[in-house]
Amino acid sequence: MLPFKLIYSPDYFLPIGAHVFPAEKYRRIHNQLIATGVAEPFDFVTPSLASDQDILLVHTPQYVHKLKTGTLSPSEEMQMEIPYSPELVRAFWMAAGGSILAAEDALRDRVGFNIGGGFHHAFPDHGEGFCMIHDVAVAIRRMQKDGKIRTAMTVDCDVHHGNGTAAIFAGMRTPSDPLPSTSAPAVGSAAGRLSANPGKMRHAHAGDVFTISLHQHNNYPAWKPHSSIDVDLPDGVGDDDYLAWLDNALSSGLRQFEPDLMCYIAGADPYREDQLGGLALSLEGLKRRDELVFRVARARNIPVMVTYAGGYARKVEDTVTIHCNTVIAARDVFSLKT
Ligand SMILES: [Zn+2]
Repeated sequence: MLPFKLIYSPDYFLPIGAHVFPAEKYRRIHNQLIATGVAEPFDFVTPSLASDQDILLVHTPQYVHKLKTGTLSPSEEMQMEIPYSPELVRAFWMAAGGSILAAEDALRDRVGFNIGGGFHHAFPDHGEGFCMIHDVAVAIRRMQKDGKIRTAMTVDCDVHHGNGTAAIFAGMRTPSDPLPSTSAPAVGSAAGRLSANPGKMRHAHAGDVFTISLHQHNNYPAWKPHSSIDVDLPDGVGDDDYLAWLDNALSSGLRQFEPDLMCYIAGADPYREDQLGGLALSLEGLKRRDELVFRVARARNIPVMVTYAGGYARKVEDTVTIHCNTVIAARDVFSLKT
C-alpha cells in the first residue's frame, strides 16, 4: 500500500484523435502501476469534476463561456493545438478536479498525486500547446480560497517553459541580476561542463506563488514570460548537469520563499528520446530528478502535489515508464523512516 493516494479517472483521456500527445498514457500508467505491483486498486481514488467556480478562480468568464458554448474562434482553437469538443472540455474539468484533490491530499498525507494534469501552457484567457485549463493554478487558487494555504511554489520540470504558470502568477516583480552560470552547479563535476556550455538562471521576486521553471531554452514557447526563477537550459543537457541546475534552483527558491504547498510538474519530456524535446536525460536521470524534488520537500516538511504534464517519447512505453517511476520515487522517499 502506498503512503499516499493516486488520483485517476478514465475520463482523463483526451479525445483528440491521432496526435503527438499520447492521450492514452493515463490509462496505461494506471494499468502498469497495478501490473508491476507498485500500486493496488485501492491506492487509487477518483476525482470529481472541478466546478465552473473553481475554473473561474483562474480563467476569465469570457474564455470559460467560449469553452462551454463551443465558440472559440478558429485561431484560438489552432493556438490550443488540440481539436475542440465538449468531451475535451469535460476532460480538462476532470483534470482540474484531480489536481484540486491532489492538493488536498498533499496537505493531509504530505504527497498528493494526480495521474494527469500539469497543463502549464494554459493562460487565463486562452489555451495553448495542448493545454485548455491550467489545472495546477486552479488547485492553488482553490486551496487559497478555502484558507488551506497562503503560499505555493511551482516546480516545473517539463522540457517546455511554464509560460501559463508564469503569466498567471506574475506578481510584483523586482528583477535582479542573473546569477553567473558558474555559481549554479552544486552537484558533482558539473561545473566544468556547464561553464563550457552555460545555461542561464533568471530571478524575479514573486507574489504569493513562487514559480520555478527548468526548461530547454531553444524550444516552445517562443515567448517566455518571467517565472520567479527561470533556468534556461542549453540543448543537450544530460543527467548530472540537469540535476545540478535543479538542486541549485530549489535551494535558491527556498532561500527566498516559504511555500505552504509545492506543486511539482513532472514532465516526462526532458528524456533524450523525446520527439518534442532537446535535452538528454536518461530514464535513470529522470527518476533521480523526481527523488531530488521529493527529498527536498520531505526534508523541509513541505506538502507536495504532483502532476504529469508532457511526454512524447518515440516509444510511448518509455513515457509511461517515466511517469510510473515518479510514483516509485515518491514511494521510496516518503516511505523512509528516517
Ligand atoms: Zn512539455
